[in-house]
Amino acid sequence: MPIAHPDSIEDLKEILRADTSIVLLAGGTDFMVGLNHGSTRLESDHLIVDLRSVAELSTVELDYRSKMLRLGAGVRWNDLLSGPIEDAAPCLSQSARTVGSHQIRTAGTIGGNVATASPAGDGVCALVALDASVVLTSHRGQRNVAVRDFATGPKTTVIEKDEFIERIDVPIVNGWQGYSKIGTRNAMVISVAGAAVVLSPDSQICRIALGSVGPTIIAADSASSFATTAIDWNTSSVSTDDLDQVVQLVRESASPINDHRSTASYRTHAVGVLVKRLIEQGLRSIKESV
Ligand SMILES: Cc1cc2nc3c(=O)[nH]c(=O)nc-3n(C[C@H](O)[C@H](O)[C@H](O)COP(=O)(O)OP(=O)(O)OC[C@H]3O[C@@H](n4cnc5c(N)ncnc54)[C@H](O)[C@@H]3O)c2cc1C
Repeated sequence: MPIAHPDSIEDLKEILRADTSIVLLAGGTDFMVGLNHGSTRLESDHLIVDLRSVAELSTVELDYRSKMLRLGAGVRWNDLLSGPIEDAAPCLSQSARTVGSHQIRTAGTIGGNVATASPAGDGVCALVALDASVVLTSHRGQRNVAVRDFATGPKTTVIEKDEFIERIDVPIVNGWQGYSKIGTRNAMVISVAGAAVVLSPDSQICRIALGSVGPTIIAADSASSFATTAIDWNTSSVSTDDLDQVVQLVRESASPINDHRSTASYRTHAVGVLVKRLIEQGLRSIKESV
C-alpha cells in the first residue's frame, strides 16, 4: 500500500487535489482500531497520507490580543495538558487528561478527535462549549466550520474529499470552565456521559455541551440560554429552582441510546448531574476569586 509523506501544507493540498482514494493518517489511534475491527477498509489503490510529516500541522499559536488559541490539527493530547494551553482553555486541558492512556495521548491528536466525529469525543465536547471552529483547507482555499456543525452523525462530517483539518480556532474565554465525564471505570475509558461548561461573567454567558448522549456532541442551547439569564452574574449564584430547570433542559436535549456501556436512562440522568455539579463548582470558584 503506497504511503505519502508530505512535508508541507502546500504539498498536502496538491496530494489531495490529485488523488481521490486517499486516507489521512494522524496518530492512528482511531484509524488502527477501525482497521482491526473492519469498519475501515483499505483497498490496494488507496494512498495513505501521513499527516505527521507536516510539521505546520503541529503548531500552537496563542494570541491574547485577538483572544484566540490556534491549534494545529496535529497537536497531540499530551501537548494540551498543561502550561499556556491550560491557562487559555482549561476545559480542553481537562478533557485531554481524560483521554485514553499516556500512550494514546502521546500519539492521538486533537484533529483526529474532531475528524473521527465520535459522539463520545472528549476534546470535541470541550471545543463545542468553547464555541471553537475548524479551519478546513484544500487547493480551493479555506473555510471555517463551527465544531458544533462539523459532525453530522456518528463518524460522518461535512468534510469534502479534498479537504483536511488544518487547525482549530479556540476562543479564549475569561471566567471559569470545566469538563467532566462518567465511565464504566476511572481511567482508560470512553465516556458513558460527558459535559463541558463555560461560564463567562465578563460577557455573562453560560455555554453547555454534552457528550455520549446523542449521535453527535450536543450544544445544549436551550439549557445554555436559560442558565445565561438565570445566573445572577453580580453574585455568581443561581437559585435551586433555576438550576433544576437547567438540569431539566439538559436532559431534554439529550437523545441517548442503550448500548454495551450504559442505558439511555442512566445517561440522561448522569449528564444532568454532571452539568449541575460543573455549574455549582464554577460559580463557587468565580465567587472565591473576586
Ligand atoms: C485505547 C484507546 C483509548 C481511547 N480513549 C479515548 C478517550 O478517552 N476519549 C476520546 O475522545 N477518544 C479516545 N480514543 C480515540 C482516539 O484516541 C482519539 O479520537 C484521537 O484523538 C484520534 O486522533 P489520531 O491522531 O489518533 O487520529 P487517527 O486515528 O490518525 O485518525 C482518525 C480519523 O481522523 C482523520 N483525520 C486525522 N487527522 C485529520 C486531519 N487533520 N484532517 C482530516 N482528517 C483527519 C483520519 O483520516 C481518520 O479518519 C481512544 C482510542 C484508543 C485506541
